[in-house]
Amino acid sequence: MARPLHAAIGEHPVLCLMCDNDTFREREVLLNSTGMGLFNMAWANESATGLICRSCGYVHLSVNRDLRTYRQKREH
Ligand SMILES: [Zn+2]
Repeated sequence: MARPLHAAIGEHPVLCLMCDNDTFREREVLLNSTGMGLFNMAWANESATGLICRSCGYVHLSVNRDLRTYRQKREH
């Protein structure tokens, strides 16, 4: 199983909207993949980052380019 990821938008950590958990699995989601034929021009090549809560499974979807994910913070 993949290791849990933490996520942040800029300096703001992302917490699950449902349960406040802070670890996720990451999955890229293509927004033009299903039933969006009429909008092909607007959505061409658009993809979003899906963050799946490891606790409750809620999927957070973001197209924010500042979103980043990282593994457990290194200890120093
Ligand atoms: Zn959750």
